[in-house]
Amino acid sequence: MSVLLLQDGCVHTADAEHRVLLRGCVLVVDDRIVAVGTAEEVGTAVATLPPHRLAELTVLDASRAMVLPGFVNAHWHETFALRLTGQQALRPASDRTDAGGMLSNGGDPYDVSASFDGSADLADLLTPGEAAAVARYSMWTQLRCGTTTLGDTGSVNHPSALARAATDLGMRCAVSLWAGDVVCEPGSDAPVRTRDAARLLARTEEIVRLAGSEFVRARPGTVYITNMSDELGKGLADLTARHDLPFVTHVAALRAEADVVRRHFGTTGLRRLHDLGLVTDRFTAVHCGFLDDEERALLLDAGASLTVSPAKYGCTGETLMAETDTVTALRRAGLPVSLSTDGSPLPHSGMVEAMRAIWHGSAERTGDPAELLPTDALAMATRVPATSLGWTGIGSIEPGNLADLVLVRTDDWRYLLQPRPLESLLVLGGSLDVDTVIVGGRVLLRDGRATEVDEDGLRSDYLDALESFSSRCLGVDAAPLVRAAHRRPAPRRDRPAG
Ligand SMILES: [Zn+2]
Repeated sequence: MSVLLLQDGCVHTADAEHRVLLRGCVLVVDDRIVAVGTAEEVGTAVATLPPHRLAELTVLDASRAMVLPGFVNAHWHETFALRLTGQQALRPASDRTDAGGMLSNGGDPYDVSASFDGSADLADLLTPGEAAAVARYSMWTQLRCGTTTLGDTGSVNHPSALARAATDLGMRCAVSLWAGDVVCEPGSDAPVRTRDAARLLARTEEIVRLAGSEFVRARPGTVYITNMSDELGKGLADLTARHDLPFVTHVAALRAEADVVRRHFGTTGLRRLHDLGLVTDRFTAVHCGFLDDEERALLLDAGASLTVSPAKYGCTGETLMAETDTVTALRRAGLPVSLSTDGSPLPHSGMVEAMRAIWHGSAERTGDPAELLPTDALAMATRVPATSLGWTGIGSIEPGNLADLVLVRTDDWRYLLQPRPLESLLVLGGSLDVDTVIVGGRVLLRDGRATEVDEDGLRSDYLDALESFSSRCLGVDAAPLVRAAHRRPAPRRDRPAG
């Protein structure tokens, strides 16, 4: 363990007052923040350190940087094993047939239900070695972009591999299970059973047993409201209450979802969750653009949370924020609304991009630039999701909290005479501007490069795992593509000219 002093940075605390310290210092002892404030205030705390701890002090000059809390990504799926399927990496660059998928134009709940059901068994086809290599690389890309805590919402990977990768990489992850036991089909009025609910509940109990370290928690869920039987729902309500765990699911994500869920289950998605006892202050609803007034009240009365992924919606043609005012209305009414990236086999956005999208999108939708400020967006990427995950001690830069920190350099032309550097990051920057990542006092990224893991090795192991899994299980002749990717030099980060 160590003693670390971050000196003279523009510290965005993301605390309840959104405090920003223009020349702020942060003192970290072992894994915790012990002091935040001016050089004088933090200097006083340094002076009280016993001599043997003072001798360990490392000073990190942050005078050309912004210091932010580590990002907490409340809704993410590990799906990097699927990169070579469908239209993804097999498309030529000249392909302009960007037809809308199952989420576009309001979405097709039947397609989504079938697709999510079909994905459920793919994870089991990964060997333990493939699962580990894919998880490590996929989660590294998140960590490298400043996400220090992941909220898994069901992944095409083994929960045990995600837990192990989090521990190995030194980041935090609330693991989940891609759980669904029924599917809604257009030709039927009743949900069609595809899996045994008792077995899924037993597997969910297994992820609870994975949790317990400082890096790994459990957050049970079901993959989508159309894919959960009442039996599974009741079991999950019992399990999450018994273990006092958070619960997550996608709901109210598609325009026609309410009609489809009513047809197959007799009531709408959010009402179903409520009737099953799943809408509590431990519940995080994902997307939730299509709720009626009574459903909004159910979320608010329960003290539940909502997470949205605005930088992803533009990539997929999801209209849930553009089409309704639900998210804005819920946030105005006091519901905790956090940001997240969602998941994709190809990376599409990070938390910085999500902050930009919610800031600009809120101003555009309401005509009011003060509707949601950059510092609000930062809190939605840090403190708010930490609370939703029930993960205390992270999400803001405050004494007593775990030292999960992100540094972004502010010494190039984008920040010249800019008194509010967070705005420049959100306007002209992106995830790759993250320069330093610290988790629990451990510096895991410095100058944009890993300090503890071999990035090229992670990438190479991922490519090998992708080749073997895609060839064996997905019928893709992956060897030529993977060989070409191996030959390409590992990507390097270029900084804009100062
Ligand atoms: Zn999702």
